[in-house]
Amino acid sequence: MRKNIVAGNWKMNKDFFQAQQLLTQILSYTRNSQPSCEVMVAPPALYTSMAVDLLETSGVKVLTQDVSAHQSGAFTGEISASMIKSLSAFGSLVGHSERRQYHGETDSHCNRKIKNLLEEGLTPIYCNGETLEQRRSGQHFEIVKNQTEVALFSLSAEEIVKVVIAYEPVWAIGTGETASPQQAQEIHKHIRTLIASKYGDNVAQEISILYGGSVKPDNAKEIFSQEDIDGGLIGGAALEVTDFAKIIEAFS
Ligand code: PGA
Repeated sequence: MRKNIVAGNWKMNKDFFQAQQLLTQILSYTRNSQPSCEVMVAPPALYTSMAVDLLETSGVKVLTQDVSAHQSGAFTGEISASMIKSLSAFGSLVGHSERRQYHGETDSHCNRKIKNLLEEGLTPIYCNGETLEQRRSGQHFEIVKNQTEVALFSLSAEEIVKVVIAYEPVWAIGTGETASPQQAQEIHKHIRTLIASKYGDNVAQEISILYGGSVKPDNAKEIFSQEDIDGGLIGGAALEVTDFAKIIEAFS
């Protein structure tokens, strides 16, 4: 059955020493409290090695925030799936809305990134979600359907079960505005139904679908209690161990 996951996306925050401190705090928190969900962190890629080493015995999995759509070669500044694999990280976020908005990423890039990660045995956390304009004009179901199909539906059933999906409505990211638990649930259900109609219900039931967008200690429990919501991708509230821990505890 699908796993419950709380993943922290640090974005472009923390210098080396601050990152070391937060990782050490996460290590001691998870050692002392044995979370009842999977915990993952996505620090800036520069700190991947440090994070993997520090968290080695903790069960906390380390992700990068992005991966190249290419495999190797003359792509200055890019990081390949095989490099991520060689650091013993667990996987990578793919298609975060900030990558789409500021770096022109599309779902066909996401598709290539996801395939590169899967080829290396890594876990993609594929992010999608509509903008405010798209929601206001009632297009959100259609947008998410199209994103999901383009990014994922060329995968085999054996491949897609290894993907984690994060629905993150763009209008709720970093804005303090959250989708209501019902609004999130209806899109999560929509995504699961799309997967079920292409791959069958068993496959759809194996895939964790996380919600992201202003998840905080005080709203996590209600959001995570929805039937098709299997956890969260946390931005701002993942930058302090106390908040991150409270969100993890929404599962206990
Ligand atoms: P937020 O970010 O929790 O700060 O809204 C979520 C995300 O971008 O993954």
